[in-house]
Amino acid sequence: MLSYEVIVIGGGHAGTEAALAAARAGARTLLLTHSIETVGQMSCNPAIGGIGKGHLVREIDALGGAMARAADQAGIQWRTLNASKGPAVRATRAQADRTLYKAAIRRMVENQPNLTLFQAAVDDLVIEAGQVRGAVTQSGLRFQAPAVVLTAGTFLAGRIHVGLRNHPGGRAGEAPATTLAQRLREGPFVVDRLKTGTPPRIDGRSLDYSVMAEQPGDDPRPVFSFLGSVHEHPRQVSCFITHTNERTHEVIRGGLDRSPMYAGEIEGVGPRYCPSIEDKVVRFADKASHQVFVEPEGLDTHEIYPNGISTSLPFDVQLELVRTMAGFENAVITRPGYAIEYDYFDPRGLKASLETKAVAGLFFAGQINGTTGYEEAAAQGLLAGLNAARHVQQRDAWSPRRDQAYLGVLVDDLVTHGTTEPYRMFTSRAEYRLQLREDNADARLTPIGRELGLVDEARFTAYARKADAVAAESARLKAIWATPGGALAREIEAGTGVVLSRECTALDLIKRPELDYAALVGLPLLGPGVDDPAVAEQVEIGVKYAGYLDRQAEEVQRQRRHEDTAIPDDFDYAGLPGLSAELQGKLAGVRPETIGQAQRIPGMTPAAISLLLVQLARRK
Ligand code: FAD
Repeated sequence: MLSYEVIVIGGGHAGTEAALAAARAGARTLLLTHSIETVGQMSCNPAIGGIGKGHLVREIDALGGAMARAADQAGIQWRTLNASKGPAVRATRAQADRTLYKAAIRRMVENQPNLTLFQAAVDDLVIEAGQVRGAVTQSGLRFQAPAVVLTAGTFLAGRIHVGLRNHPGGRAGEAPATTLAQRLREGPFVVDRLKTGTPPRIDGRSLDYSVMAEQPGDDPRPVFSFLGSVHEHPRQVSCFITHTNERTHEVIRGGLDRSPMYAGEIEGVGPRYCPSIEDKVVRFADKASHQVFVEPEGLDTHEIYPNGISTSLPFDVQLELVRTMAGFENAVITRPGYAIEYDYFDPRGLKASLETKAVAGLFFAGQINGTTGYEEAAAQGLLAGLNAARHVQQRDAWSPRRDQAYLGVLVDDLVTHGTTEPYRMFTSRAEYRLQLREDNADARLTPIGRELGLVDEARFTAYARKADAVAAESARLKAIWATPGGALAREIEAGTGVVLSRECTALDLIKRPELDYAALVGLPLLGPGVDDPAVAEQVEIGVKYAGYLDRQAEEVQRQRRHEDTAIPDDFDYAGLPGLSAELQGKLAGVRPETIGQAQRIPGMTPAAISLLLVQLARRK
C-alpha cells in the first residue's frame, strides 16, 4: 500500500485547489484523477468570475489558491461587472481560453512541492470503524491516508441526456464513476440527484458576426490575482451578442415532447439561475426574446460557446433552434448540448470544515455538495484540502465566518440549510456584503492564510507592502488640516469648486460626494498621492463608506456574542424542556456545531436559542 497524508480524488476545480492547499499546508498529498489530461478542465463555459463568483475567486487568491492566477494567464476578454454600482457588488469576469486555463492549472499542480499526481479511477474508499483509511483504484491499487478529500464533480453515476436518448457519462466523452457512486450509496450518506446542462458548441466560421453586437473587453482591463498583471494576459478578443426570437421559441415548443426534462426522463433538479433555454421559454412564456452571449472558446480554436441556450432537446431541434438566431442562420454545431444528472450528498451531513460527520477524515468538496460553478467548487476545495491537512496534523479545523468571507457564507448556507437545487453564489446571499468586497479580499484573508500556512513569503510581503501604503497615505491625509479661508481651502475651491465652511482634515474631504481621492491629490498642496491605484482605492473606500462599515462592524459584534459558542457533538435535543418537538427535530437533523449555526436554522426562535444557552451553561 502506498502511503500519503492526504489523498484528493478528482482533478477538477475543487480537487486541484484541495490538493494544492493540502500540500501548501504541509501535508504529503496525492491527487488521484481519471486523466492527467483533464486536470483543471472547464466542463461548461470557459469563463471565470462574475457577480458573487468573482468575490470567491479573489478570496481563493487571497488564501494563496490557483484560480485567479490561472485566469490571469488565460483571460482573453475581461470585464468589471456592475462597474457603475457600489464597490460591494462590483465583480470581475474573465472569458478564458480553455486550453490556456487548463495548462496553467496543470503547471501549478505539477510544480507544487509535497504534491504527487497519479492517473487512476477510484472505485472505492477504505473506511474502518468510522475513519477513512484510503482509496482503492479500478485496477486494484490501494493508497493509504488518514484524510481523503472527494471531489468527483458530475461524475458520480453521471447520466447524459440528449433528447429522449441517454447514456452513462461523467461529462461529454468521459466515463462516469459508477462503482464509486454505488459504494458511496451503501455508506452512511444522504444521496440525491441533481442535473445541469450545457449548450451546443458552434463552429465560429459558420457565423455572421456583422449582424451581432460586438462586446469588447474593458479598458483598463481588470486583473484577478493580487500578484497578477495585465502583462500576463494573452491576446484579447471580443465577445458578441445575439438573441433568441419568436421563431426560436416556436421551434423549442415544438420539440418539448422530446425533451428529457418535460417527458419526465430526468429526475434531478436543475440550476434555477442557469436554466436551459427550453426552461426559459416555458417559464417566461411572455418573453419574446432572450439574450445570447457569443463567446470564444479560445485563441487557437474556431469553436464558440453560445451562452444562454443550454439545452437537452434532441439534436435536430438544437440545430433548428440555433439557426433561427441572427447571425446563426448557417451555424454548424461541433458538439451537441446535453443535460447531465449526477449524485450529490446532502451537505447538512458536513461540518463547517467540510469533513463528513459520518466518517472521520473524509472531506467532500465541489459539485458533489450540491453546488454549481467552478468558483464555488474551487473555494470549497481549498477549504477541504486545508482542513484535511490540519486533521492529519491534529490541528483545529478552520472555516471563515459569514462576516469574513463569501466562502464562509457558502459553507454555512450549505451545512445549515442543505440544498435541493444546484447552489450558486450571489452577492445577495451575504448579509455583510459591504465588508465582503472583491477589492479587500487580501486584507480580509491573506494574514489568516499566512498563519494557516497557505500564503507564501512573496505574497505576504506584497500584501504587507500594500497594507502599509494604505495606512501611511490615510495617516498623511488625516494629518493635513484645511481651514476655511486658508491656503489649502482656497486651492480646493479653485481646483474643485468646493467651499469649506468648517475646519476638517484632507481625509474627511474624501467623504464629500463631490470630491474623490484623485481630485484631491491632484491639488499641489495635497499631491502627488500614491501611484498604485489599488492603494488609492482602499484609502477612498475606507473613508467614503466609513459610516456604513462602522455600523456593519457593530452589527457583526452584536451577532457574534454567541456565534462561536460550541454545541457538543453528543448534545441531546430530545426532551429539552420548553423546546417544541418541531425545533427538537430540526436541531437533531442539522446538529449545529455552534449557537451561530443553530440561530440560522429556518424557524429557530430567540426563545429556543436562550434555552439552548441555558442548557449549555448547565453542562459546564
Ligand atoms: P469537476 O470539474 O466535474 O471535476 C471532477 C473531477 O473528478 C474530474 O477531473 C473527474 O475526472 C474526476 N473524477 C470523478 N470521479 C473520479 C473517480 N472515481 N476517480 C478519479 N477521478 C474522478 N456550472 C455553472 O456554473 N454553470 C453552468 O451552466 C454549468 N453547466 C454545466 C454543464 C455541464 C454539462 C457540466 C458537466 C457542468 C456544468 N457546470 C456548470 C458545473 C461546473 O462544471 C462544475 O460546477 C465544476 O466543474 C465543479 O467542479 P468540481 O471540481 O466539483 O468537479
